[in-house]
Amino acid sequence: MSDTIPLNKPTNFIRNKINTDIESGLHSSVITRFPPEPNGYLHIGHAKSICINFGTAKDYDGYCNLRFDDTNPAKEDIEYVNSIKKDIKWLGFDWNGEVKYSSSYFDIFYKCAEELISKGLAYVCFLSADETREYRGTLKNPGVNSPYRDTSIAHNQTLFKKMKAGELKESECVLRAKIDMSSSFMCMRDPTLYRIRFEKHHQTNDDWCIYPMYDFAHCIGDAVEGVTHSLCTLEFQDNRRIYDWLLEHLDEFNKIDRPHQYEFSRLNLEFTTTSKRKLKLLVDNNHVTSWNDPRMPTISGLRRRGYTPASIRDFTERVGVSKFNSFTDVSILESSIRDDLNAIAPRSMAVINPIKLVIENYPKGEIESLKAPVHPQNEEMGTREIFFSREIYIDKEDFVEEAPNNKYKRLAINKEVRLRNSYVIKATHFDCDKDGNATTIYCTYDSDTLGKKPSDGRKVKGVIHFVESSTAISAEFRIYDRFFLESNPAKFDDLSSSINPNSLEIKNGFVEPNLSNAKAEKAYQFERKGYFCRDSESEGLVFNKTVGLRDTWNQ
Ligand code: ATP
Ligand code: MG
Repeated sequence: MSDTIPLNKPTNFIRNKINTDIESGLHSSVITRFPPEPNGYLHIGHAKSICINFGTAKDYDGYCNLRFDDTNPAKEDIEYVNSIKKDIKWLGFDWNGEVKYSSSYFDIFYKCAEELISKGLAYVCFLSADETREYRGTLKNPGVNSPYRDTSIAHNQTLFKKMKAGELKESECVLRAKIDMSSSFMCMRDPTLYRIRFEKHHQTNDDWCIYPMYDFAHCIGDAVEGVTHSLCTLEFQDNRRIYDWLLEHLDEFNKIDRPHQYEFSRLNLEFTTTSKRKLKLLVDNNHVTSWNDPRMPTISGLRRRGYTPASIRDFTERVGVSKFNSFTDVSILESSIRDDLNAIAPRSMAVINPIKLVIENYPKGEIESLKAPVHPQNEEMGTREIFFSREIYIDKEDFVEEAPNNKYKRLAINKEVRLRNSYVIKATHFDCDKDGNATTIYCTYDSDTLGKKPSDGRKVKGVIHFVESSTAISAEFRIYDRFFLESNPAKFDDLSSSINPNSLEIKNGFVEPNLSNAKAEKAYQFERKGYFCRDSESEGLVFNKTVGLRDTWNQ
């Protein structure tokens, strides 16, 4: 293995290529870029691209530019620009210098277009969109040259100036590269380089009415910034031909150390979609409350749900870098967050589905303060104060009238359990409503079992959690299920048919008093219930379930 591979990092085809380029002296450092289009919030797929672009550059002591690919003014918005910057920083990465915008290279793109025209390599084409499609041909049949392909250089120069001056109408014409109408790569059949759009742009206002296409702008932007390795997803594989053709035909950029593009597979996550367009539809049609709804696979949604930056970075490492498109099981994402939170999340007790429990042999009016570890495996995290009295809440699921078998470890009449961090209790009887559902459970407790086993040697197997009633704080719990019922919802154009109507369940219960000041987005392990974090957008005490304690995804 080469010495240039950073320690502890699995190798992949991108790293192999970088190593070769460094060893051969082609490049002395690595410069990458992350080029989001500011037309939506970043999602978990972008997180993979961010970790690859920023992470690879960092590992080689190079740097990564953040460049907004803002060449389509119609769909872009400054709100998206700001959220994207925030999400990248939150993930733990920083870009090199100032944020870059493709729009700040508009003058350069224009000059490049003029150069191509002057070399007879670009022409203004007046075919309609339908005609252009027809002339392009099919995979089986070569295309036909546009009648405007042989317009003189001088006339093309005049026409392009007119396009820029706003003297021609939208969709009246476009600037196209003159490449090869019979290429086996459809994208090489005279691709469009510039189109007319009379739209205000969020960075350049009304300065321009012609806007470059992605394929034209991207390679030039890379070359201007001295990017060495332009890493993108596989759907741009064919477009690499345009990338290379353009840089090879522009005098300033046709150099031995010019940028090259390398493609890796997109992240597709089961039971979710990573199409920004589709995520935007979910927001616009109110299927979710916002881009940062905790059910969204956006970085802001995951953050609000309690995911940590480390867990998302770890997830992208686990997924790895390859050239094969596939679907990733959601349980991989969930194990990343579970492993992270298991180590760092403070423990607490919450009763999500409460039922009152009265300890009849405990003195009335008395309340006891007890100590519980913040983290059972990490003493350094200290202890927290919890309370105990005659009346407590437990979860309804933890009580049945009659234990179904000997293995049953929760509370039942005449059966003992331990209350977590507290005493052993035994249920004696219960009240119920007219439908036979328990409403209050009555117990006795063994006062000699605090922090120790019963002195007569009897075995108490089960442990349940609880919250003391007079100090408990009311809280709302939001429990999420998969948002889509289909593992690949993207195969439907109308996603709404696949939406799980029960993706959010709201419960009202109680938490320990020390959670009254719980910090938003910081996850706790509610013992036996899972990881939860306080919601950042709600006034009261609302907790979002991040993930359960075990993988129940495949059950
Ligand atoms: P859409 O076409 O849905 O609007 P996009 O995928 O083109 O979105 P961009 O903002 O252009 O979104 O993406 C920025 C970068 O993130 C691109 O380099 C793109 O390849 C990468 N990216 C986007 N989605 C994924 C994904 N699911 N997995 C990995 N990388 C992705
Ligand atoms: Mg895009």
